Amino acid sequence: MTRISSPLPPGSTMGILGGGQLARMLALAAARLGINSHIYAPEADSPAFQAAGARTIAAYDDFAALEAFARATQVVTYEFENVPGDTAAFLDRHVAVAPGVAALKTAQDRIAEKTFLAGLGIPVAPFAEVSDLASLEAGLARIGRPAVLKTRRFGYDGKGQEKIHAGTDPAAAFAGIGGQPAVLEGFVRFDKEVSVIAARSWAGEVAVYDVPENHHENHILRTSTVPARISAAVAEKARAFGSRIIEALGYVGVIGVEMFVAGEEVTVNEIAPRVHNSGHWTMDACHVSQFEQHVRAVCGWPLGSPERHCDAVMTNILGDEINRWQELAAEPRLRLHLYGKGQARQGRKMGHFNRVTPRQA
Ligand code: AMP
Repeated sequence: MTRISSPLPPGSTMGILGGGQLARMLALAAARLGINSHIYAPEADSPAFQAAGARTIAAYDDFAALEAFARATQVVTYEFENVPGDTAAFLDRHVAVAPGVAALKTAQDRIAEKTFLAGLGIPVAPFAEVSDLASLEAGLARIGRPAVLKTRRFGYDGKGQEKIHAGTDPAAAFAGIGGQPAVLEGFVRFDKEVSVIAARSWAGEVAVYDVPENHHENHILRTSTVPARISAAVAEKARAFGSRIIEALGYVGVIGVEMFVAGEEVTVNEIAPRVHNSGHWTMDACHVSQFEQHVRAVCGWPLGSPERHCDAVMTNILGDEINRWQELAAEPRLRLHLYGKGQARQGRKMGHFNRVTPRQA
């Protein structure tokens, strides 16, 4: 593992795997600190290219291109968790990679992730490993219904998931996720979904943001609201779980941890080893946004304050809602963030806005 031993000075170059909106907002935050960004993405029209000084358009398994990328950068990070394991391991031999390969492996596999969390004493939904119909039926017999069947790998925004109700045929549910290796989870009855955005530096410093309450529509995040309508004790518990996870992973960078809240109970759903959509409110409501915090962390800088100075509601702009940009731009206190994407396909994240108001609590 390659590490960073002293802070990268301004003028250094941070490599980012992935060219979507998260990479774009990382590059913008980096530019503000005098750090250059080099985006590596396979798609020629990646929105992050517009915000970075250097780009590589190549496949994630193009090892010649990856080697050149590693030589041109002083640290490499990524904006998505499905970075192929071989790609991360190859880069790690040439340049510091943060978050590290071990954290990536844990977050990429729902069984490894849940086993890791349970080992830390953090509540997770009851779960069973599913590799075929027989193991699915055995899992259902143990966990009961309703339950959720999820692919072990490569799921996001509710993709690769089937809910199993009282009348659902297990074989149909298994076929519905393509018969792939999966995890069966007990259905958690929750009042609210929240998340914790936390950061850890190479030096082991940890910063945890306030807890947002997240509202989804069609499995896609619609709004994140801070403060969440949860008790101080629940907020503290959620933040403590975030700290425990980031410390145990020896993690470097920003992490997003999604959780369910039922009464005073907090259950962790999943870990995203990257900046997270439910942390976009930090751009306008905190002293240091999650994006700047991630750049600081991976570049070996001291972390900034995660303190929140405003209340905020973050709303995602999906698909053709982007056509409302003039109306949104006309609202004086609305903070608009657009991603420079061409096609407004249905459900595509085209931008977001933050409505900030003076802090009440
Ligand atoms: P995920 O892909 O794991 O983030 O799940 C997407 C969404 O499905 C979550 O935000 C929840 O709304 C819902 N969900 C996932 N797992 C469960 C579960 N075990 N119990 C109840 N709802 C769930």
